[in-house]
Amino acid sequence: MKKYLVIFFLISALSGCKTWNRSFKAALQTITADDMKKHISVLASDEFLGRAPSTEGETKTISYLAEQFRQIGLQPAARGSYFQEVPLVKLTADHDMKLVITGGKNMVRLKYSDDFIGNTPQRKDHIRIDNSDMIFVGYGINSTEYGWNDYEGLDVKGKTVVLLINDPGYVTSDSSLFNGRAMTYYGRWTYKYEEAARQGAEAVIIIHETGAAAYPWGVVQNSWSGPEFCLEDDELASSGLQFKGWITNESARKIFGSAGLDFDRLTKSASTRGFKPVDMKLKLSLELRNRTEYTRSNNVAAVWPGSRRPDEYIIYTAHWDHFGVNNAFKGDSILNGAVDNATGTASLLVMAKAFTLLHPVQDRSVLFLSVTCEEQGLLGSDYYARNPLFPPGKTIGVINIDGLNIFGRTKDMNITGYGFSGLDDYAIAVLGKYGRYATPDPTPEKGSYFRSDHFSFAKVGIPSLNLSSGVDNVEHGREWGLAQNEKWTMDNYHKPSDNYEPDKWDFSGMIEDTRVYFEIGYDLSNTDDFPEWKPGIPYKSLRDMMMQKQN
Ligand SMILES: [Zn+2]
Repeated sequence: MKKYLVIFFLISALSGCKTWNRSFKAALQTITADDMKKHISVLASDEFLGRAPSTEGETKTISYLAEQFRQIGLQPAARGSYFQEVPLVKLTADHDMKLVITGGKNMVRLKYSDDFIGNTPQRKDHIRIDNSDMIFVGYGINSTEYGWNDYEGLDVKGKTVVLLINDPGYVTSDSSLFNGRAMTYYGRWTYKYEEAARQGAEAVIIIHETGAAAYPWGVVQNSWSGPEFCLEDDELASSGLQFKGWITNESARKIFGSAGLDFDRLTKSASTRGFKPVDMKLKLSLELRNRTEYTRSNNVAAVWPGSRRPDEYIIYTAHWDHFGVNNAFKGDSILNGAVDNATGTASLLVMAKAFTLLHPVQDRSVLFLSVTCEEQGLLGSDYYARNPLFPPGKTIGVINIDGLNIFGRTKDMNITGYGFSGLDDYAIAVLGKYGRYATPDPTPEKGSYFRSDHFSFAKVGIPSLNLSSGVDNVEHGREWGLAQNEKWTMDNYHKPSDNYEPDKWDFSGMIEDTRVYFEIGYDLSNTDDFPEWKPGIPYKSLRDMMMQKQN
């Protein structure tokens, strides 16, 4: 009798397991190229106008998504609505701004776009800075975690701070400094602005360097020449910061030269412990006109409730927005964002449908969150993270999807921030089941971890996984896959040529990867495990605090 009982329990335990769950397999197999094609062709069509926030393109996009979620049978997740409204401010600085530096051997006048770029976080029509003292603050980092403070004993209120991009670990490749060559958040331009504002600076100027920034000056020019969106409760707006911008490396050399300062020696010393900020004995004056508009955009949120632990959530995120129409591009001026991120958005719809086919329904709830303004600085996800629809402590983890694979099946998938949290173990297990493997970010010095929506969640402590396309192509190998990726990035990334081209695309990799995303979410939604940040990861203490408060 006892023996039969054991066998009985063994069988019931196994039947709960997904390999025995026939509905899981059937659901997985509904993730097909046909459905993906259907959604991508709509989202990336010219009719959707490049899906820019707060435009007709947005109206079309979010209506389509909400209608699809409704048809699939998902519930609205934002208090009875599929839309979580995101209050935004759109700031447009005139390009005829003037920037002059005096007090040195010769006056330095910088030319907008060629020499510098910038704008104001303030909602004012007119910004004027008169003879603001310039201080070189090295990397402009204040971090207790890494025992580094470039602002120590310094009062920069009403002054202009001039600083370097990235962090001391990157330039020195010294593993005892910050995170060695891998960029930390302290290396990001967003951090530089935030810290300068916290310190009370009047203006902040980042010195561009292609390697350290991970992109050439042209990208800086393109990214900051248009209007800038920010959240209505943006912290920079309530600070004293009047101007934030970048200058070219060449301009920096000119400015340091006019002050009689050795640029190479000073920038080198900035990466050594004990570096002291330098009063440049220069004055910055600047004038710019600015237009402020208050507007709104929307995150789209739909939920498929769990059966046994419905108050616990797995979140899938994929940004729906892209750059819209830009007439600076001759000919085709619509940035359709087919790969970036009509593919990821389509995958949400396809996975949502697959979840509805599960019998029994998964234990935990699954939230499908298509966020806005990723391209404007992760604003939609940032807004959600700070105004969550469900308790963060009950949010098990986030799986972010930004750009799917169009070059065919790969053996690998890439985890940015590999080893940061227990979510990785789920990804590794699912990939392993299919004879595939996970790879760490090959270029952590570029700071990719801080450049998509999963980071907004990490920032508040919620474990998040950014799993993206691999390069180890099943048919053609790794070198080929890498070359395809690089070529695509060069030719099409954030350009009108990121078009939907079903005849050229190989959908097999995209489908296989989407099934992996689905299975990771499925596994997470059928366990009582709370994956954690690994020890030493900066977001861990926030999560620990969050969980303590809850218990
Ligand atoms: Zn994207």
